[in-house]
Amino acid sequence: MICLECKKTLNYIYHKNALDIFGLELCTKHKIRLEKIIKTKGTSKEVIQLYYGLKDAGLNPMLEWWDGTKSIDIAISRVKLNIEVSTEYHSISHEQAIIDLEEAMHSFKNGFTTIRIPQVLIKYYLKETVINITGIVEGLKANIKAI
Ligand SMILES: [Zn+2]
Repeated sequence: MICLECKKTLNYIYHKNALDIFGLELCTKHKIRLEKIIKTKGTSKEVIQLYYGLKDAGLNPMLEWWDGTKSIDIAISRVKLNIEVSTEYHSISHEQAIIDLEEAMHSFKNGFTTIRIPQVLIKYYLKETVINITGIVEGLKANIKAI
């Protein structure tokens, strides 16, 4: 067993301890770090699953990235991609919709792309979600080169 973050080899005790949170294999240091993030930011299980899914796919995601005004669920800074995992996809109010649109406008102006992933998608289609985000990252990379 190796730590998903630092690739450090884990012994049985580490492995057993780390499995307490979401079945992830993490060393003590990274387990504490993750627990701290969950506690302070209220990060959902789905955000963490997606984060490790993207990491596993060879991307370089950052969990709960602070953009200067708010915490982004997952950011891929190299291509300025922000990923927000939304909980209530079907019951979005018009107030929330205009806030989302304004936020999207501001992030585009600053050169960032924001995508919203419904929580249920991660629950049922984690693999496909990761594949599609990987494609978005590749597309953004190509566009950066083209400029
Ligand atoms: Zn580690």
